[in-house]
Amino acid sequence: DMEVAIKVVVVGNGAVGKSSMIQRYCKGIFTKDYKKTIGVDFLERQIAVNGEDVRLLLWDTAGQEEFDAITKAYYRGAQACVLVFSTTDRESFQSIQTWKEKVEAEVGDVPTVLVQNKIDLLEETVIKNEEAEALAKRLKLRFYRTSVKEDLNVTEGVFNTSSSNVCN
Ligand code: GDP
Ligand code: MG
Repeated sequence: DMEVAIKVVVVGNGAVGKSSMIQRYCKGIFTKDYKKTIGVDFLERQIAVNGEDVRLLLWDTAGQEEFDAITKAYYRGAQACVLVFSTTDRESFQSIQTWKEKVEAEVGDVPTVLVQNKIDLLEETVIKNEEAEALAKRLKLRFYRTSVKEDLNVTEGVFNTSSSNVCN
């Protein structure tokens, strides 16, 4: 039978929680010292979309984002994108537009969501809610706040197949 696979790239500055998010969604776990050298290009999770089996392939980086060294192979064929910044890292927030442009330059205009991770650290926030919402509005992106650590809004938010997001 027909196999549908959707490649999703997860981008953003280093240490915002991308690998943790992928691991949380695909394996259901959170570990404090998730290794950058996981050794695979992606993790996957099987989902159902309108009754059809779909494999979501979540592509991870091995830390190259810190050196601005993500290769074209990483982006190639991506059909959706998750842009991530951290509640405690202002630079990661300011880099979002650049990340969006990089993805667009490689794969064009694909379904994309904006994610503010680490909301369990909201008391240490360096980004005002209004700023984050304004960015989402300006870039025309659906916006989610998550805590991968506390398992908030990852499966039921970012990757929720019943709302119109990365899976549609
Ligand atoms: P990446 O470089 O974007 O892949 O980020 P990692 O997934 O390696 O995470 C960087 C650090 O942030 C690790 O120590 C994670 O345990 C931690 N982290 C990830 N998500 C969260 C979160 O939601 N809350 C908190 N407090 N820490 C998180
Ligand atoms: Mg990582």
